[in-house]
Amino acid sequence: MNLVDTRGRTLRDLRISITDRCNFRCRYCMPKEIFNREYEFLQRELLLSFEEITRLTRVFTKLGVDKVRITGGEPLLRKGVETLIASLGGLGLRDLTLTTNGSLLSRKAESLAAAGLRRITVSLDSLDAKVFAAMNDVDFPVSDVLEGIEAAATVGLTPVKINMVVKRGVNSGGILPMAEHFRGTGHIVRFIEFMDVGVSNGWRLDDVVPAQEILETINDRYPLEPVEPNYKGEVAGRWRYRDGAGEIGVITSISQPFCGDCTRARLSAEGVLYTCLFATGGIDFRGPIRDGASDADLTAMITDIWERRTDRYSEMRSEATVNLPKVEMSYIGG
Ligand code: SAM
Ligand code: SF4
Ligand code: SF4
Repeated sequence: MNLVDTRGRTLRDLRISITDRCNFRCRYCMPKEIFNREYEFLQRELLLSFEEITRLTRVFTKLGVDKVRITGGEPLLRKGVETLIASLGGLGLRDLTLTTNGSLLSRKAESLAAAGLRRITVSLDSLDAKVFAAMNDVDFPVSDVLEGIEAAATVGLTPVKINMVVKRGVNSGGILPMAEHFRGTGHIVRFIEFMDVGVSNGWRLDDVVPAQEILETINDRYPLEPVEPNYKGEVAGRWRYRDGAGEIGVITSISQPFCGDCTRARLSAEGVLYTCLFATGGIDFRGPIRDGASDADLTAMITDIWERRTDRYSEMRSEATVNLPKVEMSYIGG
């Protein structure tokens, strides 16, 4: 069965956050001034268990979801994440992937692949050790993330996708070096426009480097040509090097919103379902699950939420919407 919202969009993807904690403090996501010792992260018993996540995901698959991305916070910090991957792997999904900051990847790539993970996305904002350390704000060395990417490729989590959030004047000088580094490796760098997710990252339009500018920077040196999307609703716009050295992507949430094709729902680590990355509220599933809701009850809840869905935040973004009380990226997942 397929669910269609008020704008004709089908429910296809589920992004599942499995923790709101992270060992990085990326300034555009979890700035230290807010995510400090006083910050109250979710207590363990409030997190959905792996059994609860798997059960709910199974219900989603019956409603048309065939693509799942595990995220966070930093998902590899959650103990036993491989167990979850293995049980989600049994649901017959078309795609099962995970987004990580790569800090634990060189240690975990093998067990993740063995558990049935098929692909992985690694966030990497700069190849410059100093810029990278300043962006993650915990002095994490870029060499460790690069090792993680290689480990992932070695065990076949390919193509590895590399997410670079571009902030003007912070890492924008690193666009070409990033493209250059991964050209010809088979990995796909995806350049992401800095977004006004949450309320704590001090977002300003002036800090955004529009995708067009990113593409021109690369195209001037390595000519590019557009590639057809893999499927309707694909988030990244695809481009390839004319000389055959591979592919890159751009995620244009600010300069060219793609709400019209948005087929994604997001589940927070504590089981709240959101139908937009920029939502100010969601619907709790943990309560009903722990109160004995049947699969039919959960199906009815999801159906009702999706059929009433009207979200198109990025198409309506304005100075006024930037200050709405939106959920944080580290809570809802990317
Ligand atoms: N911790 C993991 C990681 O960093 O890959 C997974 C969660 S993180 C919230 C998911 C993705 O969101 C990352 O690629 C991150 O760079 C991106 N992200 C976080 N805040 C963002 C923002 N304000 N604008 C654009 N992308 C952002
Ligand atoms: Fe952590 Fe990922 Fe957010 Fe960076 S982007 S602070 S790694 S959750
Ligand atoms: Fe989807 Fe919301 Fe992003 Fe639009 S703003 S693409 S509705 S998540």
